[in-house]
Amino acid sequence: MKIHAIQTGIVEVKKNQVVGKGVGVQRLLNVLFGREWEPVPIYAWVIEHEEGVIVVDTGETARTSEPGYFPRWQPYYNLAVRFHVKPEQEIGAQLKQMGINSKDVTRVILTHMHTDHAGRLHDFPNSVIHVNMPEYHRTRGFRGQIDGYLPHRMPGWFSPQPIEFDDGAFGSFGKSWSVTTNGAIKVVPPSGHTPAHVSVVVTLEDVSYFLAGDTSYSEENLLRKIPDGVSPDPNQAIDTLQNILSFAKQRPTVYLPSHDPNSELRLKDKQTLSIGL
Ligand SMILES: [Zn+2]
Repeated sequence: MKIHAIQTGIVEVKKNQVVGKGVGVQRLLNVLFGREWEPVPIYAWVIEHEEGVIVVDTGETARTSEPGYFPRWQPYYNLAVRFHVKPEQEIGAQLKQMGINSKDVTRVILTHMHTDHAGRLHDFPNSVIHVNMPEYHRTRGFRGQIDGYLPHRMPGWFSPQPIEFDDGAFGSFGKSWSVTTNGAIKVVPPSGHTPAHVSVVVTLEDVSYFLAGDTSYSEENLLRKIPDGVSPDPNQAIDTLQNILSFAKQRPTVYLPSHDPNSELRLKDKQTLSIGL
């Protein structure tokens, strides 16, 4: 089994999104009208497993540079985000470069459905795509677009498979789902960034690789328990960060958020979290 980091370009967001600031509605206003930007990578993950290739998140699409790709009336896309994705950086193109055909990808698991995680579902028409259903329902219709999702950009054939969480507790998480028969790949439900957000934990030679999604934008923000500026419930996000720290106290854990510039290096060096007691 092997895990690969796939960087599908860069997204610039406001510093106030990476490190949330303020209380209540002010947090979102600080994101929209903050002056300082921060460029961060957009990672997706590819796991080569004996039961097939498993992809975690699909990264972003180069179509983000087309005028009108995002809803023009949406303040977040107008004021608070800039994407830089080249066609050759899309996940399908990079898999091809690695010699992996999209037909070899048995499953795709989405941590959540924001565009920089679900932007290239189009590359996986033959795969089973797993989504936590409350997250999927949140994307639907005009309400979904208000919340920043792009339901109208998802492929017409897209019909997600639910994640059932019927495999009991795993570490500090009360429920989990075993993706593979040997239990080496599990999905856990750390909510916060979105209410039904999930992460994928790959255990390889006693080290757990925590493919976090957006539980925090960096390892530093996990250690300092700083929720991002767009989580609907910052207190719940803080509880989740505490729970991830508890998980990492129980077993050696390499923490790999989707937008941490150091995630790729930590994966390569098997750099586990060190947490004081
Ligand atoms: Zn997100």
